[in-house]
Amino acid sequence: MIDLILKKGKERSLLRRHPWVYDTAVQKVMGKPGLGETVRVVSYDGRFLAWAAYSHESTIRARCWSFIESECIDKAWFEEKIIKALRARKRLFSRTSAVRVIFGEADQLPGLVVDQYGDWLVAQFQAAGVEAWKDVIAGILMKQCDVQGIYERSDAATRHREGLSEIVGVLRGAEPPQEIEIVEDGVRYGVDVRHGHKTGFYIDQRENRLLAQRLAAQFKAQHGRGMRALNCFCYTGGFSLALLAGGAEEVISVDSSADALAMAQRNAERNGFGHDRAQWLQADVFDYLRQARDRGEEFDLVILDPPKFASSHRHIDRASRAYKDINLNGLRLVKEGGDLLTFSCSGAMDVDLFQKVIAGAVIDSKREAWMIARLGAGEDHPLMMTCPEGEYLKGLQLALR
Ligand code: SAH
Repeated sequence: MIDLILKKGKERSLLRRHPWVYDTAVQKVMGKPGLGETVRVVSYDGRFLAWAAYSHESTIRARCWSFIESECIDKAWFEEKIIKALRARKRLFSRTSAVRVIFGEADQLPGLVVDQYGDWLVAQFQAAGVEAWKDVIAGILMKQCDVQGIYERSDAATRHREGLSEIVGVLRGAEPPQEIEIVEDGVRYGVDVRHGHKTGFYIDQRENRLLAQRLAAQFKAQHGRGMRALNCFCYTGGFSLALLAGGAEEVISVDSSADALAMAQRNAERNGFGHDRAQWLQADVFDYLRQARDRGEEFDLVILDPPKFASSHRHIDRASRAYKDINLNGLRLVKEGGDLLTFSCSGAMDVDLFQKVIAGAVIDSKREAWMIARLGAGEDHPLMMTCPEGEYLKGLQLALR
């Protein structure tokens, strides 16, 4: 077994069970480990710290599997971790057929994401360690999950930093259909696992889609009519369909992608929602919000769920301005008594900064707003308390008073 020796003082984060070893922390590697090979991480004075997967090209030089010296990183170890991850997600399947069954660091499997869509799994191997164990992992998943196949979507940018090339295609079992139909909280969605964002669907927004559905239903019960809502960056219609299912009278959905909008409309048809209640607009949200304001439009609910504006800390200032811009203009369209659901999936922007940016937009809008709730990803995207980097999706529910 090859030892990776850390510089003096660099053992601290590992003693707090943070799973990443940065290149700058490494004193010496006693040999030449292969890509993804298990190494023994030790402190400058030779104390055992962790078993980790080595990646010689990445700034995260090693990702820890385990902090327990007596553990052996083998097939049985992976089987135990995977079974544990699956067990924790089991109860979600009564509500939905789209579940993130493995979420990287949170499941002690750094770099591995596995999403289940009905009878298929879609897997992303984003780090050298899980890549090296891919065959073993795929075999265990096929044995433990009742699925027809595993489709691989290892096309995330993170692979290049690990010295790995992109791999997309069937990993095990059968070819998935063009669109896999999933049902979540009573709403049907088609998922294109070959071309869709991430693995095809924003599974992480499940609880917030349900919130949107409930807000629409409550509105109808209270006002005797359905709400008028605006869903910006609608992608394949996630929030829009939830609102329509909740009884919204009119939902305007905006996205710049024609393909996403076409899929969104197919999704609306799947649920029997016609064009009388749903409008799908291809436009730039930044422009649309300004134009809608000039026209004097008003909505009972506005949803803003943009793409990641900050891909790293270097882009935080520019991203903050973009978040402020859409939130300021979004707020201006909310009726008195209405709500705003606003999100950021930029991992580089923490929840406190996001809240500050939104507060800035509220001040500039000269509106008065209450924060009703902080929102985040569902329980299948848990945060490992020792690895705060896992928190990326955050949102706020504001009520305009
Ligand atoms: N809210 C979606 C996910 C949003 S993903 C859901 O819950 O499923 C981000 C979306 O924003 C993508 O569909 C992308 O096409 C769209 N997009 C990116 N920049 C845009 C812009 N400036 N104007 C409109 N849409 C944009």
